[in-house]
Amino acid sequence: MLFDSHSHMYSVKYDNDREEVFNRIKQAGVAYVLNAGADLETSLKAVDFAQKYEMFYASVGCHPHDVKDLDEDTIKLFKGLAKKPKVCAIGEIGLDYYYDHSPRDMQQYWFRRQIQLAHEVNMPIIIHDRDANEDTMKILKEENAFPLGVVMHCYSGSAEMAKQ
Ligand SMILES: [Zn+2]
Repeated sequence: MLFDSHSHMYSVKYDNDREEVFNRIKQAGVAYVLNAGADLETSLKAVDFAQKYEMFYASVGCHPHDVKDLDEDTIKLFKGLAKKPKVCAIGEIGLDYYYDHSPRDMQQYWFRRQIQLAHEVNMPIIIHDRDANEDTMKILKEENAFPLGVVMHCYSGSAEMAKQ
């Protein structure tokens, strides 16, 4: 059985042929798919998909691109969403120094805060790390993230870092 751990099937890009894509996923032998939230709106969509469709699971969180608009009220909403059925991780969260859509100090602050959220709800985390390996590892260690379970996504680090 295959479980695809990272997808954004709620994207508007699939609005015209979503059902057809669902069928192709099933035909390819993939039994379950996790839709990763990237902000509040898409986290809500991911949770909605998990409730509507048997094949979907969800994660909730804010992508590093969009943390410039994140606040504690939204973190509270994520916490509530994390307790819904079939929500199984906090993500995607992390650092993106390639695009730098949000200032780096804000990315680091909200990355830490969302790891703390994962501790509060005792869930694994899904990491987006682009050109930010050193700071990603530093924060994962300092926030004691590894016992939670960590999935690296958009990984651009070395084999050495992967071993750690
Ligand atoms: Zn993603």
